[in-house]
Amino acid sequence: MRIDILTLFPEMCERVLSESIIGRARAGGLVEIYCTNIRDYSKDKHRRVDDATYGGGTGMIMQVQPIYDCCMELESRLGTRPHIIYMSPQGKLLTQERIKELSAMDNIALLCGHYEGVDERVLEEVVDEEISIGDYVLTGGELPALVLADAVTRMLPGVLAGEEAYEEESIYNSLLEYPQYTRPYEWHGKKVPEVLISGHHANICRWRREQSLTRTFLRRPDLLESADLDKKDLDFIESLKNDCKK
Ligand code: SAM
Repeated sequence: MRIDILTLFPEMCERVLSESIIGRARAGGLVEIYCTNIRDYSKDKHRRVDDATYGGGTGMIMQVQPIYDCCMELESRLGTRPHIIYMSPQGKLLTQERIKELSAMDNIALLCGHYEGVDERVLEEVVDEEISIGDYVLTGGELPALVLADAVTRMLPGVLAGEEAYEEESIYNSLLEYPQYTRPYEWHGKKVPEVLISGHHANICRWRREQSLTRTFLRRPDLLESADLDKKDLDFIESLKNDCKK
């Protein structure tokens, strides 16, 4: 899979994308991620990419020409049209489900706005989808693009140790993950739950499942609607509800 980040701040993105798991995935050829500077496509003699907003108001708007040319050049370089996503607080909220779908695509390009945003006309022409990472406004699309690129990359084969690495994680199966512990066994008088050192695999699995159900019930009950629950799980949730009533 190839991810292109179209931005005015490629160094900012590169720095993050060279580290840790994503950095190793790139170095190992499991994903290709390129950051392109939109400013390089400006035809202005001062390399300007923004201008004042028509109708008045504070802040600058990114202009159509550099963004359009950047996207067109990318398309001809790839020999195919990538799925272009504009990172925007006005977009559809990013979910794990959408991440999974995006990770099955061959080419996606993430357009990062900055300042007060982007001239609407170029969005109408080149963008396939707008995605928001949450109901708050950031100064630019770089952090949202990095969030998306990170979440997509860790879903790609070979990036994590195995599929179970993300299948058991929070949200993936509409459940929050159970609590986890590592050495030391005792810290500040708190011991690791006995069941985890029992070596009894079935008991550990059941304990983790119940912890997961309890956390989801208490913190994100909305997720339970879409979780895949068996009779044992449903009975357990019923007992949690009864405990709450007491
Ligand atoms: N004036 C714009 C509006 O009200 O919709 C917000 C512009 S914001 C200050 C600058 C850029 O940051 C946007 O063009 C977008 O690329 C990015 N951005 C800000 N918040 C975001 C969010 N929650 N999700 C995705 N991108 C975001």
